[in-house]
Amino acid sequence: MFAAFILKFLSALTSFVIAFCTTFGIWAPSTTKEAAEHYDSNIKNVIFLIGDGMGFNHLNKTKLERKVPLTMDTFEIQGASMTRSFSSSVTDSAAGATALSTGIRTNNGALGVYPLDLNAKYSYPKNIREICAEKGMMTGVVTTDSTGGATPSGFSAHESDRDNNEEIMYDQLASDIDLIWGASNGVLTEELAAENGFDYVATYSEMMALEEGSRSFGQFTNDLWTLEQSDANTPNLEQMAVKAVDLLDDADEGFFLMIEGAHIDKHSHNNDGEKMTEALEEFDRTIAAMLEYAEEDGETLVIVTADHETGVIKLNGDSYTFTSGSHSGANVPLLVYGTDKLITKDETINNYEIPIRIAYILGFDEDDFPFEVVLV
Ligand SMILES: [Zn+2]
Repeated sequence: MFAAFILKFLSALTSFVIAFCTTFGIWAPSTTKEAAEHYDSNIKNVIFLIGDGMGFNHLNKTKLERKVPLTMDTFEIQGASMTRSFSSSVTDSAAGATALSTGIRTNNGALGVYPLDLNAKYSYPKNIREICAEKGMMTGVVTTDSTGGATPSGFSAHESDRDNNEEIMYDQLASDIDLIWGASNGVLTEELAAENGFDYVATYSEMMALEEGSRSFGQFTNDLWTLEQSDANTPNLEQMAVKAVDLLDDADEGFFLMIEGAHIDKHSHNNDGEKMTEALEEFDRTIAAMLEYAEEDGETLVIVTADHETGVIKLNGDSYTFTSGSHSGANVPLLVYGTDKLITKDETINNYEIPIRIAYILGFDEDDFPFEVVLV
């Protein structure tokens, strides 16, 4: 109890000091050299794919059982990300997304805020999508989860609690995001979306009819993300990703798109190997489509990683089996296409370093990221 109090106090103090010092220009990390090392003048666009709960053995299990090659295996630069949160050696998706979006490790359950509830009232760290948007890039988030899910929200909201579904939506409506598509959050209405300048889309045809220059909030219903969809008028992840790139890629300054395959995690919690591998294959097909775009475009960085591993899949004899229904602290895959400036081959880095290095690749420096504090 006392130890927990001390930890809370120290966490409060740390985040306050960072917030205070950077806000008033007293201290900023010296990152100029690191920024220069990672800068790649060739990269204009970023496609950041997150397989929720996807560990190394999720790939091995899928390859073995489905007898399919995976596009993820074709990346020449493969490394790993060390996943943990500020509050635990095992992160949840909210803190995981926060690390991957803001460069800050926060408490499990928190979204885009410092590891202290108090600070959410006063300040929060900017996320990489917001920084890209400020630089004139177009930005979007697509997911197979609800748009209020932890991973999409980590790139579009700042809330001390991932369960603040309505507040998350209002953060997203007030944000500068160009498109956010996923399963319905249960509260957004067409009218509310329109009032905030978004086209509301709820079907595949409505999504496909969107034109460049529009801003859109996708609220798809049904269990749409399975391979055998009963409702053909609902998009799958690959269709969303391809259309999103089509809408975003006309900005002179480039674009940033986060794509989440959420059901790898959900089926891993249930230890449902068959559905997990289906979800992973769909995620993999989406990656293939994004690589195809990137190869043609020549200025696009494609990153694939996970927020954490789920299910502790182990090799048991000649098969891979789940040994838990929870998340683990295992390292997860980190795959890169388009530049060797994010990681070198076989490099293992902390989850929170990924967005910082993305920022450096794009030419942003310590004035932009990661310690910029927004006073609210
Ligand atoms: Zn999970």
